[in-house]
Amino acid sequence: MDREETAPAALYRQWRPQTFAEVVGQEHVTRTLRNALLKNRVAHALLFAGPRGTGKTSTARILAKALNCVHGPTAGPCNACHHCRAITAGTALDVLELDAASRRGIDEMRELRERVKLAPVAAPYKVYIIDEAHMLTTEAANALLKTLEEPPPRVVFILATTEPRKVPVTILSRCQRFDFHRLQPAEIRSHLQQVLEKVEGRATPAAIDLISQAAEGSMRDALGILDQVLSLGDGDADEDTVADLLGKVRLGALTKMVELLRHQDAAGALRLVLEMDRIGKDPGLFVRDLLALLREDLLQTVDQGKTVPCYLMCCLEEFSRALEETKGAVIRTLPLELAIVRALRRSAPAETQPVESTVGDNEGGTSLQQVKTAWVDILKAVKSSRPVTFGYLSRARPVAVSGRCLKVSLPDAASRGVLAQQEHSTVVEQALSKFFGDRWKLEVGS
Ligand SMILES: [Zn+2]
Repeated sequence: MDREETAPAALYRQWRPQTFAEVVGQEHVTRTLRNALLKNRVAHALLFAGPRGTGKTSTARILAKALNCVHGPTAGPCNACHHCRAITAGTALDVLELDAASRRGIDEMRELRERVKLAPVAAPYKVYIIDEAHMLTTEAANALLKTLEEPPPRVVFILATTEPRKVPVTILSRCQRFDFHRLQPAEIRSHLQQVLEKVEGRATPAAIDLISQAAEGSMRDALGILDQVLSLGDGDADEDTVADLLGKVRLGALTKMVELLRHQDAAGALRLVLEMDRIGKDPGLFVRDLLALLREDLLQTVDQGKTVPCYLMCCLEEFSRALEETKGAVIRTLPLELAIVRALRRSAPAETQPVESTVGDNEGGTSLQQVKTAWVDILKAVKSSRPVTFGYLSRARPVAVSGRCLKVSLPDAASRGVLAQQEHSTVVEQALSKFFGDRWKLEVGS
């Protein structure tokens, strides 16, 4: 679930939904919860999984009210009785919110097994809302598991997480799981309009559209942006104000990233990825924006007749690859993280493979990039002159160019041995000569 300090959006806190009907875009979740409440069959452990700012914490609190309302368990908590009001205010003794990622949360989890045996103090149910459940320490997870194996009566656990894959399977299997969806721009738009009416704020439809798109499915982000735009405000917030604000935020992180890459600061770059992920920025969009910025650098460098720096070439190549991989990635930031490490390792000044450093500043010669660009055609040429050689070469990858020597990488040792034999390497060398002139040499490595 969403820790307040990561995005202290005043509007988000102020206009948190207080009933199931007010939760935006998660009807599939609230319908099931309401039915369970009507039948008095709420599971003793629930997992709320989904991106930041999609209503997990809010829904957990509404469920706590639904269970503890003096009219409850009810699908429609009254929000007026002393139990409901205490939960809204965060002062209810029997509704405990723990942050699994915090020190205090860990201590509280440690005491959990003892504490959980105690009956609710004031309300019918004791509700534990465990935020960032994927961050539970092994010790805390074990304590929780023991409790879930023998659930005490009238205790309900709600685990919230943005990364359900990191929650131990033993715990997952004991929870009823609810997946919260990223919100659609239209859902965000209509909610923003409602909030604007309530706070008597003014924004043009184009401004609202832009916020709804930029929020990337997170109501928290959307309200956070709206908050900032309104605080700048004189008169209607318009599209330009929003674009200006968003541009600054996004460009800030992007230029910072390029700076870190230029200085070969892998640790700093990885930290920035983590920060971007924390505030809910989509890694795919980040990579795309980053590529656009690096490409601008490339074009500018070439335009000015300067040597293209090694890190720039490596980053462009690796991030292009990462962009594709991000789409189906299990851990959305991993392709970007790997790309950063690979690019910087390849472009490090004192490389173990010195040939790599000639990429791009091969004066008047052929660069690795040129070979890569022509690679499909080179493969075709090899295929037409000797299909067997093509069979081996197609599994290899060009990794370095030094003068007129191309180094390819071929992981399989047996194939490597064959391709290195003169009868095959000559075919490849001839193809290279055809494309780039001069006499070429092929080196086959792992
Ligand atoms: Zn009530």
